[in-house]
Amino acid sequence: MNILIRDARVILPDAVVRTSVGVSDGKIAFVGTELPQDFKYDRVIDARGDILSPGFVNAHSHLPMTLLRGVADDLNLQKWLFDEIFPREDRLDGGMAAIGARASIAECLAGGITSVSDMYFFCDDIAREVLNSGIKANIARGLSGYFDGASRGTHKGFCEQEQLLRDWHMADDGRIRADISIHAEYTTTPELWRDVADFAREHRLILQTHISETEHEHAECIAKYGKTPTEAFLDAGVFDSRVCAAHCVHVTDSDAAILASHGAAAVHCPCSNAKLASGIARVDELRKMGVHMALGTDGASSNNALSAFSEMKTACLIAKLRDGDPTALPAAECFRMATSGGAYAQGREAECGEIRPGMDADLVLISTDRPNMMPLHNELSALVYSADNTCVRMTMVRGKILFENGEHTTIDCEKLRFETERIRAHLA
Ligand SMILES: [Zn+2]
Repeated sequence: MNILIRDARVILPDAVVRTSVGVSDGKIAFVGTELPQDFKYDRVIDARGDILSPGFVNAHSHLPMTLLRGVADDLNLQKWLFDEIFPREDRLDGGMAAIGARASIAECLAGGITSVSDMYFFCDDIAREVLNSGIKANIARGLSGYFDGASRGTHKGFCEQEQLLRDWHMADDGRIRADISIHAEYTTTPELWRDVADFAREHRLILQTHISETEHEHAECIAKYGKTPTEAFLDAGVFDSRVCAAHCVHVTDSDAAILASHGAAAVHCPCSNAKLASGIARVDELRKMGVHMALGTDGASSNNALSAFSEMKTACLIAKLRDGDPTALPAAECFRMATSGGAYAQGREAECGEIRPGMDADLVLISTDRPNMMPLHNELSALVYSADNTCVRMTMVRGKILFENGEHTTIDCEKLRFETERIRAHLA
C-alpha cells in the first residue's frame, strides 16, 4: 500500500521541515511537497502540522518481563533480583513469555517505538510475537553460566541460540534479526565469552551484553580478573563484533576508548538505572569520546514502563543533574540516541533511524494539539521534554500501520488484558 502523509512537521536528519512524505512498498519514497509523477497513493494521512518522526528504537529490553511489572518495587538490586524476580522467572513457560512479549510490543508501538533489541529466554515464542505484530526486533538468547564446565555443544542456552539463528535470523526480509548475547561478565565465564565472541564473528552478529551496570559488579570484576568488564571482554575477542552494551554506568576512560575504537554502542537506560540507584552514566562524556550512544528501557520490572519519551526526558534531566550543567545532553542529541543511535546499535543504520528516501518507512506521527504540546516553539524540545505516549497518533513499521488513533491493528489488547491478568494471578 502506498501512503501519502501530507503537511507534517518532518524531523529530517539536519532540519525540521513542514512538508509531505510518500511511502511506497515499505520504504520512504520521497520527502517534499512536489509529488513524483509516478507516485500513486492508496491513502492520504492529513498530518495537520503534527510531527512526523523516525520511529524510536528501544535498544535494550527483556520483553517478557512485562509480566513482572510492579511485583517488587523499591528494593535493593540483590533483594529485588534474587528474592523477587528469579523465583518468578522460574515459573514462566514459553506460552506466558509470549503473552508478556506481546504486551511489551503493544506498549512499545503505542509509544512510537518501531524496533526493539531483546535479551531473554523463550526466543522462539518471542520471535513469533514479533513476526505477528509487525514490529522490528533484534533477538538474543541471554547466555549465562558455563560455571559447570559446559561448552558450546552442551550448553542449553547456546543450543537455543543456534536454533534462534537457524530459524529466525533475517526472517521477514530482515525485520527480525538474531543477535547473540553474553548476559553479563558476573553471570558468565571467560570460556563463554570466547565461545560467544567466536560465534558472533563467524555469523556476523551483533553482540548484546550488560556492562558495568553497578559499581559493585565493576569492582568485583577488577578484584577477580585484574581488569574491568570491558577490558576482560576485549581480551576474549568480544569487541571483534559490534557490541550493543547496556548501561555502561561505571565504565572508565580507558573502557570508553575501547568502546569507541571498536564501534560499540553504549545503551543508556536512565529510568532503570535511577530506579535501582545504579548510578548515572556519563552520557555526554562518552558521546564526546566517540562512543555510539543509544537508549533503552531495560525490562519493565525495573522501569516500570517502556516509553521512549520517558527515557529521553529522564536521560536529559539526570545528565544535567550529574554534571551540574544545564547544557549537558541537549534535546537534539538525546533524540538522536533514541532514533539513529538505536538503529546503529542494532546494525540497522543503513535501513532506518532517519527520514530520507530509500529508508524503511518506520515512522511515528505525534499530535501537536495536546495541551502539553502547545505552543510549539521547537519540535525536538517538545518531543524530548513535553510529549508522552498519549501524543502518538500513528506508528508505522515498513509502511504498515500498526497503531493508529489509540487502536492496535495487529494486537487484540482486550484479550491481552485478560491473559496478562491470568498470568499475574499465577505468579502472585
Ligand atoms: Zn537488562
